[in-house]
Amino acid sequence: MNYKASEAFAIEQDQQDPLKDFRKKFFIPQIEGKDCIYFCGNSLGLQPKITRMYIDEELQVWQNLGVDGHFASKNPWVTYQKLLKKPLAALVGAQEGEVVAMNNLTSNLHLMLVSFYRPKGGRYKIITEAGAFPSDQYALETQVKFHGYAPDDAIIELVPRPGEVTLRTEDILAAIEQHGDDVALVMMAGVQYYTGQWFDLDSITATSHRVGAVVGFDLAHAIGNVPLQLHAWGVDFAVWCTYKYLNAGPGNVGGAFVHEKHATAPDLPRFAGWWGHDEAERFLMQKGFKPMEGADGWQLSNANILPLSAQRASLDLFMEAGMDKVRKKSLLLTGYLAYLLQELKQEKDHFHVITPDNPTERGCQLSISIDHGGKKIFEAIAREGVIADWREPQVIRIAPAPLYNTFEEVYRFAVLFSKALHAIESKVGF
Ligand SMILES: *Cc1c(COP(=O)(O)O)cnc(C)c1O
Repeated sequence: MNYKASEAFAIEQDQQDPLKDFRKKFFIPQIEGKDCIYFCGNSLGLQPKITRMYIDEELQVWQNLGVDGHFASKNPWVTYQKLLKKPLAALVGAQEGEVVAMNNLTSNLHLMLVSFYRPKGGRYKIITEAGAFPSDQYALETQVKFHGYAPDDAIIELVPRPGEVTLRTEDILAAIEQHGDDVALVMMAGVQYYTGQWFDLDSITATSHRVGAVVGFDLAHAIGNVPLQLHAWGVDFAVWCTYKYLNAGPGNVGGAFVHEKHATAPDLPRFAGWWGHDEAERFLMQKGFKPMEGADGWQLSNANILPLSAQRASLDLFMEAGMDKVRKKSLLLTGYLAYLLQELKQEKDHFHVITPDNPTERGCQLSISIDHGGKKIFEAIAREGVIADWREPQVIRIAPAPLYNTFEEVYRFAVLFSKALHAIESKVGF
């Protein structure tokens, strides 16, 4: 793509965008009657207009049928979770039996760690990226302690080379090889929340398995953002949330992937509940846990229907658009943002993008690190209607979401960002 730094170019790209009609399917937050430039879909995706209808449908069933909604409605609640399998499987590259919508991300991570972090003898270490999302850090720290190990000893955090901000794939693989027999589990982000780096999940999985380790990923920032092939890559387990790129709404139900090879594994320990029990016998209310096959066997509780209905609405939009098209637009849209920032850097170089340059190592998000005055710049663009995300001490995360963001918004952001950079410099007297 030959990008141009002009509004006319951006508008032309929007006109040619095969997904251009999807923006109208979302509520765009407004300030003083004007659409915001919403680049925070990596934190909370926007509300699809059809969401209310999906929730209303289940409220109506509850209103009319009460408890009979479990069995007698169009989409019986007792099996409602299964309606989400097809789209979720498509998004993570799995078979339907390998995915389940349940709980929230962190609770699912703990459930998966109970089953898949099985330290034994000298093999008890976990390899992860340094600076992982705090919830993931706390989960690993407390799981390791639960098994009687010291976190500082048992958790190996991978750090970038001196002077670098993201990890090189070769270094990740070398570390896994180097620790080899000591490693019980490799557990990393799919796309790193802070740097926006998309790790090479395929190679990480292959290398982990070669040294005899189990491998799992946190896909919070990957699902609905980048194409995934969990089944083909042979990943053992994965977890995600659905309120970021998937637009399912605040705190909506998360999900988990368990590879087919573990579908029936009888000796995998797990923490069970009645909803994971063989559904043919679930209501016999008898002693003795018999897990359902596949990921469903990790369910604890009966499904959270109202949020799941909202999740269905957003997944339907993803299926309608197609993840291929979403990714294709994302490459162009984030590519345009990267181009404009590069142009701007010719004039002002006290900022740099810490997200990898290579599009195969990133999704929607670019993280911009600002040497000084970052918070002021962030506030200045916020006053102009840009909703983005500030991470201490100096990073602005910008995530153009292909379903509702436009090239014109990316262009307008770049103009506002440029103005704010200039204003800061004149104020501090450079
Ligand atoms: C957003 C996010 C979470 C949030 O966890 P919840 O259990 O949904 O609150 C966890 N891990 C990562 C990597 C995230 O990006």
